[in-house]
Amino acid sequence: MFSSKINSNLVKRAAAAPLNRLYSQLALSVNVNLPNGTSYEQPTGLFINNEFVLPKQKKTFEVISPSTEEEITHVYEAREEDIDIAVEAAQAAFNSDWATGDPAARVKALLKLADLIDQNAETLAHIESLDNGKSLQCSRGDVALSSQCIRSAAGWADKINGSVVETGDTHFNYTRREPLGVCGQIIPWNFPLLMLSWKLAPALATGNTIVLKSAESTPLSALYMANLIKEAGIPAGVVNIVSGFGKIAGEAIATHQKIKKVAFTGSTATGRHIMKAAAESNLKKVTLELGGKSPNIVFDDANVSKAVQSLVAGIFYNTGEVCCAGSRIYVQEGVYDQVLSEFKAAAEGIKIGNPFDEDVFMGAQASYAQLTKILKFIEIGKNQGATLITGGERVDDKGYFIKPTIFGDVTKDMDIVKEEIFGPVVTISKFKTVDEIVETANDSPYGLAAGVHTEDINKAIDVANRIKSGTIWVNTYNDFHQSVPFGGYGESGFGREMGQESLDNYTQVKAVRIGLTKKN
Ligand code: NAP
Ligand code: MG
Repeated sequence: MFSSKINSNLVKRAAAAPLNRLYSQLALSVNVNLPNGTSYEQPTGLFINNEFVLPKQKKTFEVISPSTEEEITHVYEAREEDIDIAVEAAQAAFNSDWATGDPAARVKALLKLADLIDQNAETLAHIESLDNGKSLQCSRGDVALSSQCIRSAAGWADKINGSVVETGDTHFNYTRREPLGVCGQIIPWNFPLLMLSWKLAPALATGNTIVLKSAESTPLSALYMANLIKEAGIPAGVVNIVSGFGKIAGEAIATHQKIKKVAFTGSTATGRHIMKAAAESNLKKVTLELGGKSPNIVFDDANVSKAVQSLVAGIFYNTGEVCCAGSRIYVQEGVYDQVLSEFKAAAEGIKIGNPFDEDVFMGAQASYAQLTKILKFIEIGKNQGATLITGGERVDDKGYFIKPTIFGDVTKDMDIVKEEIFGPVVTISKFKTVDEIVETANDSPYGLAAGVHTEDINKAIDVANRIKSGTIWVNTYNDFHQSVPFGGYGESGFGREMGQESLDNYTQVKAVRIGLTKKN
């Protein structure tokens, strides 16, 4: 594992992952060596009722390290019948004190879980870099925000209050905010641990129980977290975590009659499908955090060097595999040449390579499928007449590394300007006026995020108010905080993660109206 030997078959096999199954006698836990010389125990089973168990069919699938293209391990695959078992466990846990007892128990368990994440931070970060290919710098940031999200949710757990509604002395009315029941959560591969934490935190704080499916290409950190969940004292059945494929395990969650809500992060196409599946099964509630094509705008009066840092963070952070990546850069004409030259130099100066090197900023793309998708978009960009300013190719032919790529001379009808690429590929264009850039920024079915760079607070607020997206970053980018809600407008989805708003997606309001009898 993690030697320099290249198995050329792996590239083809990774591309065809769903076919890559075998029956095996895989142990429920395997020892994995990490590049820092340490090793850890990696669970491989399905986590149901606080135990790792074998799936009914005992099939496994391969987990590949994108930076070496080598196999890390296999994990067991959940199928429909396993999802049924996980849902039964979650339903039983929902009928227990977890949902109806003193929320102090939830506060305590979530605080403990946050502490355990901190105590295991280096192992978790290494697992994430090994499995996803992202740099250790990025993984460490994900781990830190994960524990903060869970700690923040712990603070809410005993403050989920209803209200008393006054309608006169003939009645007494009050509302309760009750949990929904068993929630299905389907997460992507770009932030495996962080997306798990964003989803678990509000669901657990409000007393729900969970069946979560990780992405097929990055199942490892979720399984490691399962051990911490048990150690934190979260009761059996409250959190069930399965590895598996979207079209089988994911579909079983989306269509399940006993799952009351599905929370999904991933592509707009799959989000659309999940909404249909929810509607056609039991009308389960749905929240979707989907794709984006976010504008990152630099005005003439911006602090240019600070703005350039935000442009770099906006598109090259996490190798561009970020739903809110600032993938459309617009620069006002007065500073265009300066910004382009500084941005190009910064992109070319990015250290890319072995994710475990401390000074590497960009690791590998998460999978062979993603690598080929990005390279295809680069070809389309060239074919449609855009100018390749820098990058546009793999770093070498081992590991899924792509150079930071900038395209100029683009027009709004080009695919690279309209479509989510989900990689380190950005377009840059010039604009003249505020009205023009607001119209251009909003010329997308997506609406996840936008960046505005200006030293004029009036302009910043005016533009922030007029851009139709769920997050606006002013003089910063990809800058998250556990207390600040995140989510989309338009085809970027609905529902919010993090912050107080995230709790709304996991409770329903019951109104109790009591007719009073007056006694003389
Ligand atoms: P995807 O299909 O949306 O996958 C996201 C999650 O949904 C994974 O857990 C996936 O399982 C699951 N899934 C897939 N099909 C499903 C179905 N029919 N029912 C229920 N769950 C299902 O995304 P992808 O194919 O991995 O990536 C394609 C593109 O999506 C990317 O290039 C990028 O543009 C976008 N994307 C966006 C985000 C985001 O944060 N908004 C994240 C990831 C990808 P499997 O892992 O088994 O497929
Ligand atoms: Mg992987």
